[in-house]
Amino acid sequence: MGADAVVVGSGPNGLVAAVMLARAGCEVLLLEAADGFGGALRSGELTLPGRVHDLGATVMAMALASPAFRGLGLKGVEFAHPPVAAAHPLDDRPAVLVHRDAGHTAEGLGRDGAVWLATAGAAARAGFPLVDLLLKPLGPWRASPRAFAQAARFGAAAALPATTFARRALRTVEGRALIAGLAAHSMLDLRSPLTTGYGLMLGALAHLVGWPLVRGGSQVLADALVAELRSLGGQAVTGHRVRRLAELDAPIVVLDVTPRQLLAMADWPSGYRRGLERYRYGPGVFKLDWALDGPVPWRDPAVAGAGTVHLGGTLEEIVLSEAETTAGRHSPRPYVLLVQPYAADPERGGHTLWAYCHVPNGSPVDMTDAVETQIERYAPGFRDRVLARHAMGPAELEAANPNLVGGDIGGGLTSLGQFVRRPVWSPAPWRTPLPGVFLCSSSTPPGPGAHGVGGWQAARLALRSR
Ligand SMILES: Cc1cc2nc3c(=O)[nH]c(=O)nc-3n(C[C@H](O)[C@H](O)[C@H](O)COP(=O)(O)OP(=O)(O)OC[C@H]3O[C@@H](n4cnc5c(N)ncnc54)[C@H](O)[C@@H]3O)c2cc1C
Repeated sequence: MGADAVVVGSGPNGLVAAVMLARAGCEVLLLEAADGFGGALRSGELTLPGRVHDLGATVMAMALASPAFRGLGLKGVEFAHPPVAAAHPLDDRPAVLVHRDAGHTAEGLGRDGAVWLATAGAAARAGFPLVDLLLKPLGPWRASPRAFAQAARFGAAAALPATTFARRALRTVEGRALIAGLAAHSMLDLRSPLTTGYGLMLGALAHLVGWPLVRGGSQVLADALVAELRSLGGQAVTGHRVRRLAELDAPIVVLDVTPRQLLAMADWPSGYRRGLERYRYGPGVFKLDWALDGPVPWRDPAVAGAGTVHLGGTLEEIVLSEAETTAGRHSPRPYVLLVQPYAADPERGGHTLWAYCHVPNGSPVDMTDAVETQIERYAPGFRDRVLARHAMGPAELEAANPNLVGGDIGGGLTSLGQFVRRPVWSPAPWRTPLPGVFLCSSSTPPGPGAHGVGGWQAARLALRSR
Protein backbone atom coordinates (compact mmCIF):
# COMPACT_ATOMS: atom_id res chain seq x y z
CA MET A 1 0.00 0.00 0.00
CA GLY A 2 1.71 3.22 -1.11
CA ALA A 3 1.61 6.62 0.64
CA ASP A 4 4.09 9.03 2.22
CA ALA A 5 2.95 7.84 5.62
CA VAL A 6 0.84 4.95 6.87
CA VAL A 7 -0.72 5.19 10.32
CA VAL A 8 -1.89 1.88 11.79
CA GLY A 9 -4.70 2.28 14.33
CA SER A 10 -7.08 5.16 14.88
CA GLY A 11 -7.10 5.74 18.63
CA PRO A 12 -6.48 9.33 19.74
CA ASN A 13 -2.73 8.81 19.33
CA GLY A 14 -3.00 7.41 15.81
CA LEU A 15 -5.48 10.12 14.80
CA VAL A 16 -3.33 12.97 16.12
CA ALA A 17 -0.29 11.52 14.32
CA ALA A 18 -2.24 11.16 11.06
CA VAL A 19 -3.54 14.75 11.18
CA MET A 20 -0.13 16.20 12.03
CA LEU A 21 1.54 14.32 9.19
CA ALA A 22 -1.19 15.39 6.75
CA ARG A 23 -0.94 19.02 7.88
CA ALA A 24 2.80 18.83 7.18
CA GLY A 25 2.01 17.88 3.58
CA CYS A 26 2.31 14.08 3.73
CA GLU A 27 -0.06 11.85 1.81
CA VAL A 28 -1.44 9.80 4.70
CA LEU A 29 -3.16 6.43 4.73
CA LEU A 30 -4.83 5.47 8.03
CA LEU A 31 -5.62 1.78 8.51
CA GLU A 32 -7.97 0.69 11.31
CA ALA A 33 -8.70 -2.94 12.22
CA ALA A 34 -12.14 -2.31 13.71
CA ASP A 35 -15.28 -1.42 11.76
CA GLY A 36 -15.19 2.16 13.07
CA PHE A 37 -12.59 4.83 13.84
CA GLY A 38 -11.56 6.06 17.25
CA GLY A 39 -10.15 3.12 19.26
CA ALA A 40 -11.11 3.84 22.87
CA LEU A 41 -12.85 7.03 21.68
CA ARG A 42 -15.62 5.08 19.95
CA SER A 43 -19.29 5.41 20.86
CA GLY A 44 -22.16 3.12 19.91
CA GLU A 45 -25.60 1.78 20.77
CA LEU A 46 -24.62 -0.85 23.30
CA THR A 47 -27.96 -1.26 25.04
CA LEU A 48 -31.13 0.10 23.40
CA PRO A 49 -31.72 1.73 20.00
CA GLY A 50 -30.91 5.44 20.14
CA ARG A 51 -28.84 5.23 23.33
CA VAL A 52 -25.28 6.52 22.75
CA HIS A 53 -22.65 4.85 24.93
CA ASP A 54 -18.92 5.53 24.95
CA LEU A 55 -17.08 2.25 24.51
CA GLY A 56 -14.03 3.72 26.23
CA ALA A 57 -13.02 7.22 27.27
CA THR A 58 -15.68 9.77 28.22
CA VAL A 59 -13.95 12.24 30.51
CA MET A 60 -11.91 14.60 28.37
CA ALA A 61 -9.77 16.47 30.91
CA MET A 62 -6.62 15.08 29.28
CA ALA A 63 -7.75 16.03 25.78
CA LEU A 64 -8.54 19.57 26.83
CA ALA A 65 -5.25 20.01 28.68
CA SER A 66 -3.09 18.22 26.13
CA PRO A 67 -0.49 20.14 24.13
CA ALA A 68 -1.35 17.82 21.21
CA PHE A 69 -5.04 18.74 21.10
CA ARG A 70 -4.64 22.38 22.13
CA GLY A 71 -2.74 22.99 18.89
CA LEU A 72 -5.25 21.26 16.59
CA GLY A 73 -8.20 23.66 16.77
CA LEU A 74 -10.80 21.06 15.75
CA LYS A 75 -14.17 22.13 14.38
CA GLY A 76 -17.51 20.73 15.51
CA VAL A 77 -16.36 19.40 18.88
CA GLU A 78 -18.18 20.87 21.86
CA PHE A 79 -17.16 20.07 25.42
CA ALA A 80 -19.90 19.89 28.06
CA HIS A 81 -19.07 20.35 31.74
CA PRO A 82 -21.03 18.62 34.51
CA PRO A 83 -21.91 20.86 37.49
CA VAL A 84 -19.43 18.85 39.60
CA ALA A 85 -16.29 17.23 38.16
CA ALA A 86 -16.23 14.22 40.48
CA ALA A 87 -17.94 12.90 43.58
CA HIS A 88 -16.88 10.34 46.14
CA PRO A 89 -19.85 9.18 48.24
CA LEU A 90 -19.25 7.83 51.74
CA ASP A 91 -21.51 5.63 53.89
CA ASP A 92 -22.06 7.81 56.92
CA ARG A 93 -21.41 11.38 55.80
CA PRO A 94 -21.88 13.70 52.81
CA ALA A 95 -20.02 12.90 49.59
CA VAL A 96 -16.67 14.55 48.86
CA LEU A 97 -17.00 16.76 45.79
CA VAL A 98 -14.35 17.95 43.33
CA HIS A 99 -15.50 21.26 41.92
CA ARG A 100 -14.03 23.26 39.08
CA ASP A 101 -12.95 25.76 41.73
CA ALA A 102 -10.09 24.59 43.99
CA GLY A 103 -11.22 26.80 46.90
CA HIS A 104 -14.75 25.39 46.79
CA THR A 105 -13.29 21.87 46.77
CA ALA A 106 -11.01 22.68 49.71
CA GLU A 107 -13.98 23.97 51.77
CA GLY A 108 -15.52 20.48 51.59
CA LEU A 109 -12.30 18.91 52.85
CA GLY A 110 -12.28 20.68 56.21
CA ARG A 111 -8.87 20.31 57.89
CA ASP A 112 -7.41 18.85 54.67
CA GLY A 113 -8.46 21.82 52.55
CA ALA A 114 -5.12 23.58 53.00
CA VAL A 115 -3.17 20.51 51.81
CA TRP A 116 -5.44 20.22 48.78
CA LEU A 117 -4.79 23.85 47.88
CA ALA A 118 -1.04 23.41 48.38
CA THR A 119 -0.85 20.34 46.12
CA ALA A 120 -3.58 19.91 43.48
CA GLY A 121 -4.52 23.59 43.77
CA ALA A 122 -0.92 24.73 43.30
CA ALA A 123 -0.49 22.43 40.29
CA ALA A 124 -3.63 23.90 38.72
CA ARG A 125 -2.37 27.43 39.35
CA ALA A 126 0.94 26.50 37.66
CA GLY A 127 -1.23 25.87 34.59
CA PHE A 128 -0.31 24.59 31.13
CA PRO A 129 3.48 24.99 31.51
CA LEU A 130 3.38 22.38 34.29
CA VAL A 131 0.90 20.13 32.45
CA ASP A 132 3.15 20.22 29.39
CA LEU A 133 6.13 19.10 31.45
CA LEU A 134 4.10 16.25 32.97
CA LEU A 135 2.69 15.10 29.62
CA LYS A 136 6.06 15.45 27.89
CA PRO A 137 8.42 14.08 30.55
CA LEU A 138 11.11 13.51 27.90
CA GLY A 139 10.68 16.87 26.20
CA PRO A 140 10.92 18.81 24.00
CA TRP A 141 10.71 21.55 26.61
CA ARG A 142 10.27 25.24 26.20
CA ALA A 143 9.44 25.77 29.86
CA SER A 144 10.67 28.56 32.09
CA PRO A 145 12.84 27.87 35.14
CA ARG A 146 9.72 28.69 37.17
CA ALA A 147 7.81 25.81 35.50
CA PHE A 148 10.68 23.40 36.23
CA ALA A 149 10.68 24.53 39.87
CA GLN A 150 6.90 23.96 40.07
CA ALA A 151 7.34 20.52 38.48
CA ALA A 152 10.02 19.62 41.02
CA ARG A 153 7.72 20.69 43.87
CA PHE A 154 4.84 18.70 42.39
CA GLY A 155 7.17 15.73 41.81
CA ALA A 156 8.20 15.55 45.48
CA ALA A 157 4.64 14.70 46.52
CA ALA A 158 3.74 12.94 43.27
CA ALA A 159 6.43 10.29 43.65
CA LEU A 160 4.92 9.01 46.91
CA PRO A 161 2.55 6.08 47.18
CA ALA A 162 -0.98 7.39 47.76
CA THR A 163 -1.07 5.53 51.09
CA THR A 164 2.03 7.38 52.32
CA PHE A 165 0.77 10.78 51.15
CA ALA A 166 -2.64 10.15 52.72
CA ARG A 167 -1.23 9.11 56.08
CA ARG A 168 1.47 11.80 56.24
CA ALA A 169 -0.36 14.78 54.84
CA LEU A 170 -4.09 14.19 55.26
CA ARG A 171 -6.13 13.99 58.46
CA THR A 172 -9.76 13.50 57.44
CA VAL A 173 -11.70 10.49 56.17
CA GLU A 174 -12.88 12.71 53.29
CA GLY A 175 -9.41 13.85 52.19
CA ARG A 176 -7.98 10.35 52.36
CA ALA A 177 -10.90 8.81 50.47
CA LEU A 178 -10.62 11.48 47.80
CA ILE A 179 -6.94 10.86 47.08
CA ALA A 180 -7.57 7.09 47.03
CA GLY A 181 -10.40 7.44 44.51
CA LEU A 182 -8.34 9.70 42.25
CA ALA A 183 -5.12 7.69 42.55
CA ALA A 184 -6.92 4.42 41.78
CA HIS A 185 -7.41 5.64 38.18
CA SER A 186 -3.78 4.51 37.77
CA MET A 187 -4.87 0.85 38.18
CA LEU A 188 -1.90 0.34 40.50
CA ASP A 189 -1.65 -0.93 44.02
CA LEU A 190 -2.01 2.31 45.98
CA ARG A 191 1.07 1.40 48.02
CA SER A 192 3.14 1.93 44.83
CA PRO A 193 5.25 5.00 44.05
CA LEU A 194 3.71 7.63 41.73
CA THR A 195 0.12 6.84 42.67
CA THR A 196 -0.11 10.20 44.48
CA GLY A 197 1.02 11.88 41.26
CA TYR A 198 -1.74 10.29 39.19
CA GLY A 199 -4.31 11.39 41.77
CA LEU A 200 -3.07 14.95 42.21
CA MET A 201 -2.66 15.44 38.47
CA LEU A 202 -6.30 14.45 37.88
CA GLY A 203 -7.39 16.72 40.72
CA ALA A 204 -5.37 19.62 39.27
CA LEU A 205 -6.91 19.09 35.81
CA ALA A 206 -10.39 19.35 37.35
CA HIS A 207 -9.47 22.88 38.46
CA LEU A 208 -7.49 23.86 35.37
CA VAL A 209 -9.75 22.65 32.54
CA GLY A 210 -12.55 20.72 34.24
CA TRP A 211 -13.57 17.13 33.60
CA PRO A 212 -15.85 17.68 30.60
CA LEU A 213 -17.14 15.25 28.04
CA VAL A 214 -17.78 15.59 24.36
CA ARG A 215 -21.36 16.57 23.56
CA GLY A 216 -22.95 13.69 21.64
CA GLY A 217 -20.28 11.12 22.64
CA SER A 218 -16.53 10.76 22.34
CA GLN A 219 -17.00 9.45 18.79
CA VAL A 220 -17.64 13.07 17.77
CA LEU A 221 -13.99 13.88 18.62
CA ALA A 222 -12.70 10.86 16.66
CA ASP A 223 -14.93 11.73 13.69
CA ALA A 224 -13.69 15.33 13.71
CA LEU A 225 -10.09 14.11 13.49
CA VAL A 226 -10.94 11.72 10.63
CA ALA A 227 -12.80 14.54 8.83
CA GLU A 228 -9.78 16.81 9.25
CA LEU A 229 -7.49 14.10 7.85
CA ARG A 230 -9.76 13.57 4.84
CA SER A 231 -10.06 17.32 4.24
CA LEU A 232 -6.27 17.36 3.90
CA GLY A 233 -6.40 14.61 1.26
CA GLY A 234 -5.70 11.70 3.61
CA GLN A 235 -7.37 8.32 3.23
CA ALA A 236 -8.89 6.46 6.16
CA VAL A 237 -9.93 2.80 5.93
CA THR A 238 -11.68 0.57 8.50
CA GLY A 239 -11.72 -3.23 8.68
CA HIS A 240 -8.03 -3.47 7.82
CA ARG A 241 -5.86 -5.18 10.42
CA VAL A 242 -2.13 -4.95 9.77
CA ARG A 243 -0.23 -8.03 10.90
CA ARG A 244 3.25 -7.53 9.41
CA LEU A 245 5.12 -4.35 8.51
CA ALA A 246 6.07 -6.01 5.23
CA GLU A 247 2.45 -5.43 4.11
CA LEU A 248 3.08 -1.67 4.13
CA ASP A 249 4.94 0.40 1.59
CA ALA A 250 5.69 3.90 2.91
CA PRO A 251 8.78 5.77 4.10
CA ILE A 252 6.96 6.65 7.33
CA VAL A 253 4.96 4.12 9.37
CA VAL A 254 3.36 5.12 12.67
CA LEU A 255 1.94 2.32 14.79
CA ASP A 256 -0.83 2.83 17.34
CA VAL A 257 -0.33 -0.66 18.78
CA THR A 258 1.07 -2.10 22.02
CA PRO A 259 4.30 -4.11 22.41
CA ARG A 260 2.62 -7.50 22.08
CA GLN A 261 1.32 -6.69 18.58
CA LEU A 262 4.53 -4.85 17.69
CA LEU A 263 6.57 -7.98 18.49
CA ALA A 264 4.59 -9.99 15.93
CA MET A 265 4.92 -7.35 13.20
CA ALA A 266 8.62 -7.67 12.37
CA ASP A 267 11.83 -9.51 13.19
CA TRP A 268 13.25 -6.93 15.59
CA PRO A 269 16.91 -6.67 16.62
CA SER A 270 17.39 -8.84 19.71
CA GLY A 271 17.92 -5.98 22.22
CA TYR A 272 14.69 -4.23 21.19
CA ARG A 273 12.81 -7.53 21.06
CA ARG A 274 13.90 -8.40 24.60
CA GLY A 275 12.78 -4.95 25.78
CA LEU A 276 9.34 -5.48 24.25
CA GLU A 277 9.11 -8.97 25.73
CA ARG A 278 9.86 -7.59 29.20
CA TYR A 279 7.04 -5.05 28.92
CA ARG A 280 4.26 -5.75 31.45
CA TYR A 281 0.54 -5.24 31.11
CA GLY A 282 -1.56 -4.09 34.04
CA PRO A 283 -4.85 -5.32 35.47
CA GLY A 284 -7.89 -5.49 33.22
CA VAL A 285 -11.29 -3.93 33.68
CA PHE A 286 -14.81 -5.32 33.75
CA LYS A 287 -17.04 -2.66 32.20
CA LEU A 288 -20.81 -2.30 32.36
CA ASP A 289 -23.03 0.06 30.38
CA TRP A 290 -26.63 0.66 31.35
CA ALA A 291 -29.70 2.25 29.84
CA LEU A 292 -31.72 3.71 32.73
CA ASP A 293 -35.24 5.05 32.91
CA GLY A 294 -34.06 8.05 34.95
CA PRO A 295 -31.07 9.32 36.92
CA VAL A 296 -29.29 7.16 39.52
CA PRO A 297 -31.10 7.62 42.87
CA TRP A 298 -28.04 8.69 44.89
CA ARG A 299 -28.64 8.86 48.63
CA ASP A 300 -26.65 12.10 48.68
CA PRO A 301 -28.32 14.28 46.01
CA ALA A 302 -25.08 16.23 45.44
CA VAL A 303 -23.67 13.18 43.62
CA ALA A 304 -26.27 13.62 40.86
CA GLY A 305 -24.38 16.59 39.44
CA ALA A 306 -21.06 14.77 39.10
CA GLY A 307 -19.80 13.53 35.75
CA THR A 308 -17.55 10.97 37.44
CA VAL A 309 -18.23 9.07 40.67
CA HIS A 310 -15.68 7.06 42.66
CA LEU A 311 -17.27 4.22 44.62
CA GLY A 312 -15.53 2.07 47.18
CA GLY A 313 -15.67 3.99 50.44
CA THR A 314 -12.69 4.87 52.57
CA LEU A 315 -8.99 4.96 51.75
CA GLU A 316 -8.51 1.65 53.59
CA GLU A 317 -11.25 -0.10 51.58
CA ILE A 318 -9.95 1.15 48.24
CA VAL A 319 -6.36 0.25 49.11
CA LEU A 320 -7.52 -3.26 49.94
CA SER A 321 -9.56 -3.61 46.75
CA GLU A 322 -6.68 -2.48 44.51
CA ALA A 323 -4.17 -4.68 46.40
CA GLU A 324 -6.44 -7.68 45.85
CA THR A 325 -6.55 -7.00 42.11
CA THR A 326 -2.78 -6.61 41.89
CA ALA A 327 -2.39 -9.91 43.74
CA GLY A 328 -4.54 -11.60 41.07
CA ARG A 329 -7.76 -11.84 43.11
CA HIS A 330 -11.25 -10.36 42.71
CA SER A 331 -12.31 -7.94 45.37
CA PRO A 332 -15.85 -8.65 46.62
CA ARG A 333 -16.20 -4.86 47.29
CA PRO A 334 -14.30 -3.42 44.34
CA TYR A 335 -13.33 0.18 43.69
CA VAL A 336 -15.76 1.25 40.95
CA LEU A 337 -15.22 4.16 38.58
CA LEU A 338 -18.60 5.34 37.31
CA VAL A 339 -19.45 7.95 34.69
CA GLN A 340 -22.91 9.50 34.30
CA PRO A 341 -22.71 11.44 31.01
CA TYR A 342 -26.26 12.80 31.41
CA ALA A 343 -24.99 15.09 34.18
CA ALA A 344 -23.43 17.18 31.41
CA ASP A 345 -24.88 15.97 28.15
CA PRO A 346 -28.55 15.06 27.80
CA GLU A 347 -28.09 14.36 24.07
CA ARG A 348 -27.37 10.66 24.38
CA GLY A 349 -30.84 9.27 23.85
CA GLY A 350 -31.74 9.11 27.53
CA HIS A 351 -30.00 8.31 30.80
CA THR A 352 -26.98 6.18 30.02
CA LEU A 353 -24.34 5.17 32.52
CA TRP A 354 -21.09 3.23 32.56
CA ALA A 355 -18.83 1.88 35.26
CA TYR A 356 -15.91 -0.46 35.55
CA CYS A 357 -13.97 -2.20 38.26
CA HIS A 358 -10.43 -3.50 38.04
CA VAL A 359 -9.87 -7.24 37.68
CA PRO A 360 -6.75 -9.38 37.19
CA ASN A 361 -5.48 -9.21 33.59
CA GLY A 362 -7.49 -11.55 31.36
CA SER A 363 -10.00 -12.43 34.11
CA PRO A 364 -13.10 -14.33 32.91
CA VAL A 365 -15.08 -13.53 36.08
CA ASP A 366 -18.45 -11.76 35.74
CA MET A 367 -18.32 -8.79 38.14
CA THR A 368 -21.83 -7.48 37.35
CA ASP A 369 -23.23 -8.24 40.77
CA ALA A 370 -20.21 -6.85 42.67
CA VAL A 371 -20.32 -3.57 40.69
CA GLU A 372 -24.09 -3.14 41.01
CA THR A 373 -23.94 -3.92 44.73
CA GLN A 374 -21.40 -1.09 45.18
CA ILE A 375 -23.75 1.29 43.33
CA GLU A 376 -26.75 0.16 45.42
CA ARG A 377 -24.69 0.84 48.55
CA TYR A 378 -24.79 4.56 47.75
CA ALA A 379 -27.91 4.59 45.55
CA PRO A 380 -30.56 2.22 46.93
CA GLY A 381 -33.06 1.36 44.22
CA PHE A 382 -30.52 1.69 41.39
CA ARG A 383 -31.30 -1.73 39.93
CA ASP A 384 -34.98 -0.76 39.55
CA ARG A 385 -33.92 1.97 37.12
CA VAL A 386 -32.12 -0.42 34.76
CA LEU A 387 -33.83 -0.94 31.40
CA ALA A 388 -30.92 -2.76 29.76
CA ARG A 389 -27.31 -3.58 30.54
CA HIS A 390 -24.27 -4.55 28.49
CA ALA A 391 -21.16 -6.15 30.00
CA MET A 392 -17.65 -6.37 28.63
CA GLY A 393 -14.94 -8.32 30.41
CA PRO A 394 -11.29 -8.38 29.34
CA ALA A 395 -11.90 -10.85 26.48
CA GLU A 396 -14.69 -8.76 24.94
CA LEU A 397 -12.71 -5.53 25.33
CA GLU A 398 -9.67 -7.03 23.62
CA ALA A 399 -11.83 -8.49 20.84
CA ALA A 400 -13.19 -4.98 20.16
CA ASN A 401 -9.75 -3.32 20.36
CA PRO A 402 -6.54 -5.38 20.25
CA ASN A 403 -4.71 -2.69 22.25
CA LEU A 404 -6.72 -3.61 25.36
CA VAL A 405 -4.53 -6.62 26.09
CA GLY A 406 -6.19 -8.77 28.77
CA GLY A 407 -8.58 -5.86 29.39
CA ASP A 408 -5.74 -3.46 30.31
CA ILE A 409 -7.08 -0.05 29.28
CA GLY A 410 -3.75 1.67 29.99
CA GLY A 411 -1.67 0.08 27.22
CA GLY A 412 0.60 -1.44 29.89
CA LEU A 413 1.29 -1.17 33.60
CA THR A 414 1.70 2.45 34.72
CA SER A 415 4.34 1.64 37.35
CA LEU A 416 7.37 3.83 38.05
CA GLY A 417 9.54 1.37 36.07
CA GLN A 418 7.31 1.65 33.01
CA PHE A 419 7.02 5.41 33.38
CA VAL A 420 10.71 5.66 32.47
CA ARG A 421 10.84 2.52 30.27
CA ARG A 422 7.76 2.79 28.04
CA PRO A 423 8.06 0.47 26.21
CA VAL A 424 11.89 0.52 26.25
CA TRP A 425 14.50 2.69 27.91
CA SER A 426 15.28 5.44 25.39
CA PRO A 427 15.36 9.25 25.20
CA ALA A 428 12.95 8.87 22.24
CA PRO A 429 10.93 5.69 22.84
CA TRP A 430 8.56 6.55 19.95
CA ARG A 431 11.39 5.60 17.56
CA THR A 432 11.89 1.90 16.75
CA PRO A 433 15.15 0.40 15.46
CA LEU A 434 13.66 0.26 11.92
CA PRO A 435 14.21 3.53 10.02
CA GLY A 436 10.94 5.37 9.41
CA VAL A 437 8.92 3.15 11.80
CA PHE A 438 7.49 4.82 14.92
CA LEU A 439 5.32 3.73 17.83
CA CYS A 440 2.68 6.15 19.15
CA SER A 441 0.23 4.27 21.39
CA SER A 442 -0.35 4.69 25.11
CA SER A 443 2.46 2.16 25.55
CA THR A 444 4.74 5.18 24.97
CA PRO A 445 5.12 8.27 27.23
CA PRO A 446 3.14 9.75 28.80
CA GLY A 447 0.96 6.62 28.92
CA PRO A 448 -2.82 6.27 29.07
CA GLY A 449 -5.41 8.98 28.51
CA ALA A 450 -7.16 10.58 25.56
CA HIS A 451 -4.42 13.20 25.15
CA GLY A 452 -2.86 12.17 21.83
CA VAL A 453 0.63 13.13 23.02
CA GLY A 454 2.17 9.81 21.91
CA GLY A 455 0.89 10.52 18.39
CA TRP A 456 2.18 14.08 18.55
CA GLN A 457 5.65 12.88 19.60
CA ALA A 458 5.80 10.12 16.97
CA ALA A 459 4.68 12.47 14.17
CA ARG A 460 7.20 15.11 15.27
CA LEU A 461 10.06 12.58 15.07
CA ALA A 462 8.77 11.17 11.79
CA LEU A 463 8.68 14.63 10.22
CA ARG A 464 12.19 15.35 11.48
CA SER A 465 13.42 12.10 9.90
CA ARG A 466 12.07 13.05 6.45
C1 LIG B 1 -13.29 1.64 29.10
C2 LIG B 1 -12.27 2.76 28.97
C3 LIG B 1 -12.51 3.95 29.63
C4 LIG B 1 -11.57 4.99 29.53
N1 LIG B 1 -11.86 6.19 30.10
C5 LIG B 1 -11.04 7.25 29.85
C6 LIG B 1 -11.45 8.55 30.18
O1 LIG B 1 -12.57 8.77 30.64
N2 LIG B 1 -10.58 9.58 29.93
C7 LIG B 1 -9.35 9.36 29.35
O2 LIG B 1 -8.60 10.33 29.15
N3 LIG B 1 -8.97 8.11 28.99
C8 LIG B 1 -9.78 7.07 29.21
N4 LIG B 1 -9.43 5.83 28.78
C9 LIG B 1 -8.07 5.62 28.24
C10 LIG B 1 -7.92 6.15 26.83
O3 LIG B 1 -9.08 5.92 26.10
C11 LIG B 1 -6.73 5.47 26.17
O4 LIG B 1 -5.58 5.67 26.95
C12 LIG B 1 -6.50 6.01 24.77
O5 LIG B 1 -7.62 5.78 23.95
C13 LIG B 1 -5.29 5.34 24.14
O6 LIG B 1 -5.20 5.80 22.83
P1 LIG B 1 -4.38 5.02 21.73
O7 LIG B 1 -4.46 5.82 20.49
O8 LIG B 1 -3.02 4.71 22.26
O9 LIG B 1 -5.09 3.59 21.56
P2 LIG B 1 -6.60 3.14 21.39
O10 LIG B 1 -7.54 4.22 21.69
O11 LIG B 1 -6.72 1.87 22.16
O12 LIG B 1 -6.73 2.82 19.83
C14 LIG B 1 -5.95 1.85 19.19
C15 LIG B 1 -6.59 1.58 17.84
O13 LIG B 1 -5.67 0.86 17.02
C16 LIG B 1 -6.37 -0.18 16.35
N5 LIG B 1 -5.41 -1.24 16.05
C17 LIG B 1 -4.65 -1.93 16.94
N6 LIG B 1 -3.89 -2.83 16.29
C18 LIG B 1 -4.14 -2.67 14.96
C19 LIG B 1 -3.65 -3.31 13.79
N7 LIG B 1 -2.73 -4.28 13.87
N8 LIG B 1 -4.11 -2.91 12.59
C20 LIG B 1 -5.02 -1.90 12.51
N9 LIG B 1 -5.53 -1.27 13.59
C21 LIG B 1 -5.10 -1.66 14.80
C22 LIG B 1 -7.42 -0.61 17.35
O14 LIG B 1 -8.48 -1.30 16.72
C23 LIG B 1 -7.85 0.73 17.93
O15 LIG B 1 -8.86 1.32 17.16
C24 LIG B 1 -10.37 4.79 28.81
C25 LIG B 1 -10.16 3.59 28.12
C26 LIG B 1 -11.12 2.58 28.18
C27 LIG B 1 -10.91 1.34 27.37
